[in-house]
Amino acid sequence: MASPARADGERIPAFEARGLEKVYRMGEVDVPALRGVDLELYDGELVVILGPSGSGKSTLLNILGGLDVPTGGRVRYREHDLVGASARALTRYRREHVGFVFQLYNLVPSLTARENVALACEIAPDPMPADEALRRVGLGERLDHFPSQLSGGEQQRVAIARAVAKRPDVLLCDEPTGALDAATGRVVLEVLEQVNRELGTTVVVITHNAAIAALADRVVHVRDGRIARVDHNARRAPAAEIAW
Ligand code: ADP
Ligand code: MG
Repeated sequence: MASPARADGERIPAFEARGLEKVYRMGEVDVPALRGVDLELYDGELVVILGPSGSGKSTLLNILGGLDVPTGGRVRYREHDLVGASARALTRYRREHVGFVFQLYNLVPSLTARENVALACEIAPDPMPADEALRRVGLGERLDHFPSQLSGGEQQRVAIARAVAKRPDVLLCDEPTGALDAATGRVVLEVLEQVNRELGTTVVVITHNAAIAALADRVVHVRDGRIARVDHNARRAPAAEIAW
């Protein structure tokens, strides 16, 4: 999906954050998590966020996804101002535009893979059939399996299918490989790369797996609540062509 072009040919970012700040109040103590983040994300990009534990990655992702609100600065997604929006507006924003994938898969244990995905489709305005979403993540042969009958990597792929079936514009993934071994994690990252390439979904992934940098359009390095550096990868290649 291409960003609408400005008259001068410059692309308009889908997400635009300016001076974003987040301070968590813990009793009498203020914990600064974001200390002035300026960031642009464009439609259709695969963006990786790297940084040490506690540097503010999850806080940033949660704000972009409308799960949390900043204590300072501005952030918008297209025409949606995510600062000062009502809880109702943020819920609607999440439902219509955002898919989430977390470290823990949070599948309903008593439902099959297909039923877990179908459940999420019920609240989406224009969902993809559950079977199609599961086929996209390589689980076409596991439709009627229960979570307990699936490996960790397969459960995470069900969680990705559940998010993708909503046809979100943006998929926000917070350490989706954090609970997986390296080889399984790699399969999950390849699935995310494929979703981005085939469906045009904007994908933002927090990961410790620096190897994914080769698959990403941009790598955002977060340090101590700030963007330390953004690497552009003009030579991004499909997963199948990368030697990890
Ligand atoms: P990361 O995802 O990079 O590990 P986080 O965004 O989770 O970092 O956390 C950034 C900082 O904010 C850390 O110091 C963390 O302890 C603090 N923090 C995160 N969430 C909360 C919260 N709900 N309440 C208080 N402090 C928090
Ligand atoms: Mg985190």
